[in-house]
Amino acid sequence: MTPRFEDRAVTLPELLASRDARQARQTAWLQRHGVTLISFTVVAPGPVKDCDLTRRIFSHGLLALDALATRAGWPVKARASFAFVTGPEALIAINAPAPAVKQATISLEQTHPLGRLWDIDVLTPHGEILSRQQFSLPPRTCLICSRPAALCVREQTHTLAQLLAHMEARLNDAEHATHA
Ligand SMILES: [Zn+2]
Repeated sequence: MTPRFEDRAVTLPELLASRDARQARQTAWLQRHGVTLISFTVVAPGPVKDCDLTRRIFSHGLLALDALATRAGWPVKARASFAFVTGPEALIAINAPAPAVKQATISLEQTHPLGRLWDIDVLTPHGEILSRQQFSLPPRTCLICSRPAALCVREQTHTLAQLLAHMEARLNDAEHATHA
């Protein structure tokens, strides 16, 4: 991962291409490693996806995912992170049952102070993405209020500045708590 970040608005074609590229990478990793795959990105509202804020949120997530695998005794076969203009991404091939990994990452997203800012997908060795619904979880709530996130996005309840300020505050709180 390069230390410098792009800090510029991404275009819609770039965003669409990044989704296709991520899917292709996931497929290649599943074929190569034949085990459960964690695909990790961060929540990045607004047009700038690679910036100091998202990189820091991403680093905390990587540490938490490594700690999770270590704690559970799950062997990590391969891991890689990528710094794209469309946002930081990581892939972790982990030799453990996909439902158990999904359960653990859900609990991480719910209990870690920064968990709400992470998007952790878990794919089975056959490439099926395990969804929150399959684990009887409601859709994610908004970053700021307690309504479903999709509702606030659709109605544009909060400005981008409010969302980013909220993320920055949450990150600073978490880093302060870690170092205290
Ligand atoms: Zn809201």
